[in-house]
Amino acid sequence: MTNRREFLTQAAAGVLAVSSAKSIGVSKANRSPSGTDSQPAGTVQTVLGPIDASKLGFTLTHEHVGNENSMKVYGGRENCVAKAIEKLKEARDAGIDTVVDVTTFDIGRDIRFREEISRESGMQIIACTGQHMFAPEALSARSVEEISELFVREIERGIDGTDIKPGVIKVASRAGTLTFAEENVFKAAARASKATGVPISTHTNSRLRAGEKQVEIFEAEGLSPSRVSLGHSDGTDNMEYLTGLLKRGYTLGMDHTFWGMAPGEKFPWQRRAECIKELIEAGFADRLFFSNDWVLGDIAREKINPDGMLFTVRRTIPYLEQVGVAKRDIHTITVKNPARFFVREA
Ligand SMILES: [Zn+2]
Repeated sequence: MTNRREFLTQAAAGVLAVSSAKSIGVSKANRSPSGTDSQPAGTVQTVLGPIDASKLGFTLTHEHVGNENSMKVYGGRENCVAKAIEKLKEARDAGIDTVVDVTTFDIGRDIRFREEISRESGMQIIACTGQHMFAPEALSARSVEEISELFVREIERGIDGTDIKPGVIKVASRAGTLTFAEENVFKAAARASKATGVPISTHTNSRLRAGEKQVEIFEAEGLSPSRVSLGHSDGTDNMEYLTGLLKRGYTLGMDHTFWGMAPGEKFPWQRRAECIKELIEAGFADRLFFSNDWVLGDIAREKINPDGMLFTVRRTIPYLEQVGVAKRDIHTITVKNPARFFVREA
């Protein structure tokens, strides 16, 4: 596993690889949603290699299959591997085919761990490059171009000296506005996405309308909205904010529905699900994702949500169907949208 310093020192070595990646050019014609049932074209990068987008199946778009803390909680890597396999098999049995793991290098993204648990559980896993909240000082001291090169290098060459490549770029901002360091990371992500055709998934404070600030940066970099998913968008019921971003072409990650179960929470999960229903009725089913921001070994989170990454299939979807959402729309959100979004545009 790469620690921060190693990750950063790889930057210089990555420069040469990057210049060739850049010649791949800018973002391609939009293969976007047609509303038809046509098969998605292209391939998606998983930890076991590229697969045809049509093989993605039912996909959870924002989960954490293991990090530094999980290893500690389960008493070391070996036990953690076993626990992760158990959880992923359970999810496979519940009909989930693919999990997008947005665990970045700075919180313990062990890429061989991901390869092993995917192979042993049969769960397809998409890993990420990018950066978690609180940019490490050494990273925030880098230029936009240097950070972008780090991301591109992982996408083009592989992670931590392996040939395992990420299929998404994860970036995060904490509050309503972006810090200088966060802005740089967002600019770098946009440039890496444009250079490689790999999409971006963000951590967003939706209550503070942070999505609007995040996309300002992406738009200034000339990135297509079709390549961006704004995570944690179900943290708010401000429909004007949500539909505003959807109308501009962004995808919204509805991956914090379970937080509505937290003690004292004023925005219960059922209300979050009803917002999802309203967005579907407003015609935005083709711009939504479902997930659970589950973290292997996060005991506090597990107490709030014992269903973990199965919350979507055990609670959210049955509730939506009960209040009249069509199975066709659920299929669009869970299968068709990920198959379109996670294709690497070449
Ligand atoms: Zn997360």
